[in-house]
Amino acid sequence: MARLVGSDRTPCINPRCRRTAPRDKFPGEMICGKCFRSLPAPARNRHRRFWREIRKWNRRIARTGDAFRRERMEAIRRGWINRLCWHWDTVLKPMVTNPSKPEGLDGFLAEVGL
Ligand SMILES: [Zn+2]
Repeated sequence: MARLVGSDRTPCINPRCRRTAPRDKFPGEMICGKCFRSLPAPARNRHRRFWREIRKWNRRIARTGDAFRRERMEAIRRGWINRLCWHWDTVLKPMVTNPSKPEGLDGFLAEVGL
């Protein structure tokens, strides 16, 4: 977003939302808490589950002193990061940014301001 170029803030991916977050904590894209809470529960739960797995493997990787095991665990973590990114790009982001939605999502759309 032009108004944020060179800024230390990352805008919410909802184009109708004006919330931002610190760029050092959210260097890529982010969705603010309010827009996230307006998403359907299954999508929210999947997103949280992917993060939970990534954090779990972060902890395990940090704890192990075995280089071979660490490499295997890093591969598993990469798998969860890929799932998180895929879900973000193909499910969460289109829900928030794509105005062409199927019927029956009117309440949800009103909530996110589309
Ligand atoms: Zn937002």
